[in-house]
Amino acid sequence: MISLGEARQVIAECVSRLPAVKVALGDSFGAMLAEDVRADADHPSADRSMMDGYVVRADAAPGSFRIAGEIAASDVPLRDLENGEAMRIFTGAILPPGGGRVVMQEECTRNGGTVEIGNFPEPLFIRTKGSEAKSGAVVLGKGTRIGATEMAILAQVGCVEPTVIRRPVLKHIASGDELVAPETQPAPGKIRDTNSSLLAGLVAPFGLSMASERFPDDTEALAKGMDGGWDLLLLSGGASVGDHDHGADVLRSSGFEIHFDKVNLRPGKPLTFATRGKQTAFVIPGNPVSHFVCFHVAIRLAIEMMGGIGPQWDFLDLEISNRSLIKPNPRETFWPARVSISEGNLIAEARNWSTSGDTFSLTETNALIRVDPDGRHRTLLLDLPHSGRTR
Ligand code: AMP
Ligand code: MG
Repeated sequence: MISLGEARQVIAECVSRLPAVKVALGDSFGAMLAEDVRADADHPSADRSMMDGYVVRADAAPGSFRIAGEIAASDVPLRDLENGEAMRIFTGAILPPGGGRVVMQEECTRNGGTVEIGNFPEPLFIRTKGSEAKSGAVVLGKGTRIGATEMAILAQVGCVEPTVIRRPVLKHIASGDELVAPETQPAPGKIRDTNSSLLAGLVAPFGLSMASERFPDDTEALAKGMDGGWDLLLLSGGASVGDHDHGADVLRSSGFEIHFDKVNLRPGKPLTFATRGKQTAFVIPGNPVSHFVCFHVAIRLAIEMMGGIGPQWDFLDLEISNRSLIKPNPRETFWPARVSISEGNLIAEARNWSTSGDTFSLTETNALIRVDPDGRHRTLLLDLPHSGRTR
C-alpha cells in the first residue's frame, strides 16, 4: 500500500494542465489566468480628486477665493484656474488641466460666490494619472486565480474575455443500490445520497459545477454512466473490495490504467486513481468523512494540476484544544477540525467523528489535522490557497 505522499506524487505526474481558452468575464470566477493581464490605459486616466471640496491652484496660499465653477465626477474641465480662483469639486472628478490642490469641504466656508479656506492640510488629495497602474503594466499575473477582486480588476481594465486555463468538465456518479435522492423518504434498507451535495459544495470554490447521477451497483450501468467527454470523473462508493464494489473493475474494463487502489490513509484507504488518455478518474470510498478527506488530500490536487498549480501544500503548527481526542494510528490520519480565533490566536478543535459515516461531525469543518503514526500533528487550513505556484 502506498503512502499519501507517494499517491500525491503519482497524481502530480499523471495529471496535466488543461489548455487555455477565452471565457466571458462574468463566467470567469474561480478560473486560473493563463496569460498576464495588462492595464489598457493609465489608471486613473487623469488626475482626480479624492475628496468633495474645492480645488485651488497648486501655488495658492490659504485665503479667500472666487468660485469659478463646479466639476462633477463625469466632467472634463477645459480651463485652468486663475490666481484667486477656486472650483467646487467632487470625489473622483478630474482636476483642471494645470493641476492644483484639493481642500476638503470641512476646511472651507462658503459665502455665496466666494469660499474662505483658512488652512491647506496635506496631502494634495489627488489620485494622480497612472499612479495605480501605468498603461501596459501587468495588473494580474499569469496563474492568478480569479476571485471577486480579480473580476473587479478585469472589469476596470476592460478585459471582458480573459484567457484562462479551461476549467475541467466534471462528472459525478454516486453508486450504490441503497441510495435515494435527498427529497425521498428512504425505505428500509435505503439511505439518502449525501455525497452528491457534499462534492458539489467542495468544487464550487474552484468555479466548478458538477453533473451528478445515481447508479445501482451494476457494472454495465456504471460503465454506461461513465460515457461522455468529461475531464474528471468522481465515482462515489464501490471503492472497497466487497462483492458490490465495482468501481476499479469498471474503470479497468473501460480501458483505464489504475495507478493505485489503496492509500495508507485514514479515513479514505480504498481511494482509487486511474487515467485514460487525458481523462482522470477517482473512485472515492462512499462514507462522507472519507469523501471529505479524499477530496482535500487528493482530488483537489488533480483539479489544481489541471489548473496549472504545483503540488505543494503547507501546514500550520496549531494548538489543539481537545488533543486527547486524537489517538495515533498506524495509518496517516486526517482529522476534520474547526479552526477559530481565540484571544488573538488560531486554535484547532478536532471534530469528534466516531466513524467515517458520521456526516454530522463535519459541521463547520474548515481544517484537517494531519496526525502521523508517531502522534505528530500539523494542521491544513482548507479555505486558504495552497502555496503551490504556477508551473
Ligand atoms: P462503499 O464505498 O460503496 O463501500 O460505501 C461505504 C459506505 O458509504 C456505505 O455505508 C454506503 O452506504 C455509504 N455511501 C456510499 N455512497 C454514498 C452516498 N452517495 N451518500 C451517502 N452515503 C454513501
Ligand atoms: Mg457501495
